[in-house]
Amino acid sequence: MYKPKDSSLSPRFCGVRTFMRLEQVKTTENVDFVVMGVPFDTAASNRTGQRSAPQHIRNFSVLLKPYNPDVDINIFDHCSGVDYGDVDVIPGNIHRTYDKMVSEIYPILEKGIIPIIMGGDHSISLGNLRAFYKAYGPIALVHFDSHGDTWDNYYGEKYMHGTPFRRAVEEGLIDVEHSIQVGMRGSLYSPADLQDARDLGFEVITMKEIRQIGMNEVLERIHRRVEDKKVFVSYDIDFVDPAFAPGTGTPEVGGPTSFEALEYVRGLKGLDTVGFDLVEVLPSYDPGEITAALASSIIFEMITQVAVKKEAEISAVLERNLPR
Ligand code: MN
Ligand code: MN
Repeated sequence: MYKPKDSSLSPRFCGVRTFMRLEQVKTTENVDFVVMGVPFDTAASNRTGQRSAPQHIRNFSVLLKPYNPDVDINIFDHCSGVDYGDVDVIPGNIHRTYDKMVSEIYPILEKGIIPIIMGGDHSISLGNLRAFYKAYGPIALVHFDSHGDTWDNYYGEKYMHGTPFRRAVEEGLIDVEHSIQVGMRGSLYSPADLQDARDLGFEVITMKEIRQIGMNEVLERIHRRVEDKKVFVSYDIDFVDPAFAPGTGTPEVGGPTSFEALEYVRGLKGLDTVGFDLVEVLPSYDPGEITAALASSIIFEMITQVAVKKEAEISAVLERNLPR
């Protein structure tokens, strides 16, 4: 059973910084989740430096405590987890990086463990989805972002941070009938940019629609779309308004608040989520560690979802074994 260091006994500013002060152990034994980094950023179209995000988020995350009052759960009463470290990416070589990601992530999935993966730029999601496909076949995708990331290419290059979900559909990695994109906004090249995602088969909820129908209706639509399918949640930090998440490469104004950013993760309760990523944090544009604070809390909510899922599984087993 792995849990964070107790900060009431050991001051949180002491020691080498891992996510949430979890032990850094590269193990797939006795763990329900792992937090890991994929510090790859050479597919970013504008600012780079997302390679420094995993450590930046870890540095801030030492402030996290194990009890989540918003869902009334003590995470480590229900699950065990470690900081799995980082994948050794190959800067500038996305294909070899994808291969490394698949060989690192697949053994985790094979054991039924839920990985929570910190990017890196958004190109890493294609590597994640390839690993998930190998373990589970095509799975549903819930994608929070201000961008659809379904462009075809940049400068003729097919593997960039704005193309992973088009490639994923082309490769058959996603069960697109059960997949949804949420939060799209900002200037585009043409109306086709949004329509293309719908033509690929995604349900798309733009930021404007979110404001019209409200967060609860958005969450209901997510649940209706995904149903009981296994789902991967991909969370681009630029989904959130840059007032709350300035540290990112392609910010778009007019987005959700940090409170809403967390509520969207809490609202996933009940889905069969098998993995998460949180991408595009850019430390060099993060004054006062505002973005790191939000990113660590989003990951905390993701880990909470693992605990909620484990608790539900255990109660289901108990229920079945009750004498009648
Ligand atoms: Mn993105
Ligand atoms: Mn984005």
